[in-house]
Amino acid sequence: MPVVPADEPAPVPSAAPPSGAHPLRVAVVGAGPAGIYAADALTRQDAVPVAVDLIDRLPTPFGLVRHGIAPDHPKMRAIRDTLHRSLEHPLVRFVGNVDVGSDITLAELRRHVDAVVYTYGASLDRRLGIEGEHLPGSLAATDLVAWYTGHPDADRARVEAALAGVRSVVVVGVGNVALDVARVLSRTPEELEPTDMPQHVLDVLAAAPVEEVTVLGRRGPAQATFTTQELRELDGLADATVLVDPAELELDPGSEERAATDRNVSRNLAVLRGWADHTATGGRVRLRLRFFRRPVRLLGTDRVAGVEVERTAVDGDGRAMGTGELEVLPADLVVRSVGYRGLPLPGLPVDERSGTVPNEAGRVLRDGEVSPGEYAAGWIKRGPSGVVGHNKHDARETIASLLADAADGVLRTAGPVDDLVDTLVARGVEPVLLDDWRAIDAAETALGASRGRARTTLHERETLLAAVRAAAARS
Ligand code: NAP
Repeated sequence: MPVVPADEPAPVPSAAPPSGAHPLRVAVVGAGPAGIYAADALTRQDAVPVAVDLIDRLPTPFGLVRHGIAPDHPKMRAIRDTLHRSLEHPLVRFVGNVDVGSDITLAELRRHVDAVVYTYGASLDRRLGIEGEHLPGSLAATDLVAWYTGHPDADRARVEAALAGVRSVVVVGVGNVALDVARVLSRTPEELEPTDMPQHVLDVLAAAPVEEVTVLGRRGPAQATFTTQELRELDGLADATVLVDPAELELDPGSEERAATDRNVSRNLAVLRGWADHTATGGRVRLRLRFFRRPVRLLGTDRVAGVEVERTAVDGDGRAMGTGELEVLPADLVVRSVGYRGLPLPGLPVDERSGTVPNEAGRVLRDGEVSPGEYAAGWIKRGPSGVVGHNKHDARETIASLLADAADGVLRTAGPVDDLVDTLVARGVEPVLLDDWRAIDAAETALGASRGRARTTLHERETLLAAVRAAAARS
């Protein structure tokens, strides 16, 4: 017998199998790529009639495509056009500006629908757990990325204070997010001007006199998780020189073996070796890639002044081993880019260590047992890995589980229940539906056009909602 904790609703009483008149109502929580791919997979089959509510706490869809992919990657961000087509499906209803947990509890949501798919991602940062990490001038990559993509919850004051007058930056971690951060901080104002970054972001970045950006790996170049395309891009920056110490590219036998069997690693090494003869001439920014250094503490009294690092070596299993040799890297901004973890949604189990919702092929587990009618997809299911496209396969697996459960009679429609949007409106919530999002989209395009750009992101929740209200008043 599945175990459902006392604070959770009992599974919806079985009524009838889904039909055209009474489709299976599915709420998808999180309208990022995983949620949109889940909605898409639900509507691309005709075995089980469905009606999908795609809920997001922001008034805007697209999750990390809007607030994660770097604004200077317009081709990657263009995937939103494809995602938008799934939002327009007649069986999908976008319901933005709704926070599951505060506007409606999970238990209440579950009473409105026959199944819930959690796709709300992994929005929290991981910490280094070292002295000085809380000093002003120490930021998580999530803080900086939220700010430069115009996320309404970004802590503007803290990020802008950290960027004021900054010359030397250390980015901890050698994944793709670290490269995004290093690249954005190294770009010239002219390179950033065509992006959809909010104007204040462009202004603050233009005023920051960055001269030195160091990307720091605690292991060697063969263990870095960045991908070659993203790495290679660093060499094309208008006013920055990429620098690599050739001594740090020498590999131990284990790393040699890794390079021989992993194409991403061998390609990364080839790119890095191509830069080993670069010298620090020309260019405003020296962008250094350093390896075999792990941060021990952040130095400074009232704000960050440097990072003390310990030299490392990798053992036969590729683990970093401290050598006891210490070094200080000057820095007035330290950005930790060491991964993401999932936020616990009130009423939903999240594994503390992995930051994911326990699941089996997308079926949520509570106390080790499958919880009927609850599913997960995307980063909250598998952890923060992979590019946007990986979520498609991942969401399909979850929806296959859901549809199999529907076919087995585990999921049945509970008969007439109140409409979710009516319930939310009655309690004073202002859900943002597809046409409302279109009004926001139009307002951003118009703002961009007024500055000769394709789009400028509206970064305040109130401004986003004002665009919705203004469109409603006009119609
Ligand atoms: P990631 O690839 O997992 O990188 C995390 C980095 O942090 C690793 O280098 C890791 O080193 C390091 N790290 C972890 N704990 C550390 C510690 N205590 N001290 C020092 N270093 C530490 O994660 P991510 O960069 O956040 O990216 C998340 C996902 O998004 C990835 O799948 C990425 O490819 C994807 N993404 C893709 C793009 C793109 O395609 N352009 C852009 C952004 C993000 P160890 O390996 O030693 O643990």
